[in-house]
Amino acid sequence: MTANKGKKLYEGKTKILYEGPEKGTAIQHFKDDATAFNNQKKSIVEGKGVLNNRISEHILNNLNQIGIKTHLIKRLNMREQLVRLAEILPIKFIVRNVATGSLTKRLGIPDGTILSRPLLEYSYKNDDFGDPIVAKEHILEFNWAKNSELNLINDYCLRINDFMQGMFRGVGIKLVDFKLEFGRANIDGKSEIILADEISPDTCRLWDVVSEKKLDKDRFRKDLGNIIQAYQEVARRLGIIHEESNIAEVKFGKPKAVNIKKR
Ligand code: C5P
Repeated sequence: MTANKGKKLYEGKTKILYEGPEKGTAIQHFKDDATAFNNQKKSIVEGKGVLNNRISEHILNNLNQIGIKTHLIKRLNMREQLVRLAEILPIKFIVRNVATGSLTKRLGIPDGTILSRPLLEYSYKNDDFGDPIVAKEHILEFNWAKNSELNLINDYCLRINDFMQGMFRGVGIKLVDFKLEFGRANIDGKSEIILADEISPDTCRLWDVVSEKKLDKDRFRKDLGNIIQAYQEVARRLGIIHEESNIAEVKFGKPKAVNIKKR
């Protein structure tokens, strides 16, 4: 089943945004596409969009309940959500609890180092420049966000981290790091900062507390296999799907041809 959609507004690597049924709304469609390393590695992971739709809905609903304003209005079906339309800030907000990924590559910090407090990084959303890390001063100088907006977002990032760390820890998962996107939405005639995009195993690093097994997109990035099984494991532990869930009606195959261009 698909929702009655308006015209396509934007197509990203893993999602499509369509005009929504009412002014100020949009329909966010989750694709099965997986990409990494600035689109140099691509594949289709069947069923991933369905799982990310459900996992992101679950997390954003929980965040709404603790007073974080998000773009999610409601999930419409297996692959689509009704969301508030927002003007997305050109910044990725990355929160880290454990050093891994690009942080270790950039600064030589040993992989797995536990950070004494959450580390917030800003990356400028620009594929041509590989989403470079920027300072708060760049964001203010180039008017990517206002100081008051950044202060609010910083506070949101830490609260979201606190909440998600607890939520995942309760089901035996360590929240290593994650990426957030925020936008400006017009709510009752007022411009407000809201959490947008998605929170899913595509945008977080999630390790099993005991085995440190990766339950996230690193399985795709590092060719570890069993991507869908890992995402299903996250959904199952969060109580979103059950063993005999109807998500099984979606065929979960092995990832198709993986194409890596030489850099
Ligand atoms: O690659 P890096 O270590 O900077 O990633 C930090 C976190 O941000 C990871 O959880 C990763 O999944 C997420 N991320 C993302 N989208 C990007 C880059 C990173 O969701 N384009």
